[in-house]
Amino acid sequence: MLTKGAKGTKDVIPEESYKWHYIESIYKEVCENFGYKEIRTPVFEHTNLFERGVGETTDVVQKEMYTFKDKGGRSITLKPEGTSSIVRSFVENKLYGGVQPTKVFYNTPCFRYERPQAGRLRAFHQFGVEVFGSDSPSVDVEVMSIAYTVFERLGLNNIELNINSVGCPKCRAEYNHILKEYIAPKLDKLCNTCNSRYEKNPLRILDCKNPSCQEELKDAPLMIDHLCDDCREHFDKVKEYLDAIEIDYIINPKIVRGLDYYTKTAFEFISKDIGAQGTVCGGGRYNGLVKEIGGPETAGIGFGMGVERLLLTLESLNIPFPEPRGIDIFIVTIGERADIESFSILYKLRKLGISADKDHLNRSIRAQFKYANKIDANFTIVIGDDELDRDVITLKNMKTGDQREIKLSSLTKELKQELGR
Ligand SMILES: [Zn+2]
Ligand SMILES: [Zn+2]
Repeated sequence: MLTKGAKGTKDVIPEESYKWHYIESIYKEVCENFGYKEIRTPVFEHTNLFERGVGETTDVVQKEMYTFKDKGGRSITLKPEGTSSIVRSFVENKLYGGVQPTKVFYNTPCFRYERPQAGRLRAFHQFGVEVFGSDSPSVDVEVMSIAYTVFERLGLNNIELNINSVGCPKCRAEYNHILKEYIAPKLDKLCNTCNSRYEKNPLRILDCKNPSCQEELKDAPLMIDHLCDDCREHFDKVKEYLDAIEIDYIINPKIVRGLDYYTKTAFEFISKDIGAQGTVCGGGRYNGLVKEIGGPETAGIGFGMGVERLLLTLESLNIPFPEPRGIDIFIVTIGERADIESFSILYKLRKLGISADKDHLNRSIRAQFKYANKIDANFTIVIGDDELDRDVITLKNMKTGDQREIKLSSLTKELKQELGR
């Protein structure tokens, strides 16, 4: 077991990490272009934060959390999602006292005890954004358009935005009543999970993946047909803003988020290339959540997207990642004196921001050149006794094969010129 990672975990090996850097940099750049700042919160929190923030009736809280007692006897849980910690931080650090709205983005590891499957791990990563302090529908669409822009920048084009409104506590109470009346005569035909949700959380029943439940409920009344004036108007505005920036969408009344603090807009981005499992991003408004956690009444909205799933989608569509840049220069050395001297040259180059390397395995000259090719060196030089004595080296461009003699003492200057820095 010592040499096998825990079930549901995956390493990012050095040969793969450039893909992560690439999508992380695009994600960060897009968020910053939209005026969002990064927030980082701890990997673990008090368990009751997630019981409140994710909801006690959810699968995540009931079945999937990594919860343990620490040595002080506190119940601690590894983050199963990104939002709760950020809401906690927003309240604890009194960010609501600053300039509003508060617009943040994050990139965090998350942990869920689930059955591992393609693109779904027990230790995974999530990108997300949250906006606090504005109930404007323009913020809803801003948040959607961040995710949309990220997909666009990454070359994921075949993505469909699905939107819905889950109403507010006012109109939902009425709707729940209508829904329960509709479900009541069908209860004995629905699964146990559906039955257990009937009293506390009837809206979630519509979310059941069980095909026979879905069949039973296919004509269920929909929240979207029972919105109050305020929710209806908000939803209309969302559509107007989406039209204004020409992002296509479909209205999907099946997107439900059954907890009381979810309000109004709910949305998902679905990749049409990877089928039914194609949700690559989900989000929505949660105007009741900050208060639920113990903060002042504050509007909120956000999304989360699984990074592993995003990567898997890109890979399955053969979308290319820009190749990582090779090392700037490799110094081939001959003899002990040159070895020591080049070690000092390397250090200087590296401190100047030029990436440089040398042999550490006592290789032959031929093998050193081979290695330089393998690590994708852009330039090589050879340093031996003769080069040191005459202060002359040959700078070779490994991509073009061009080479020219330069003074060893002017290597830095010449290299900077060649590299355009
Ligand atoms: Zn409403
Ligand atoms: Zn069911």
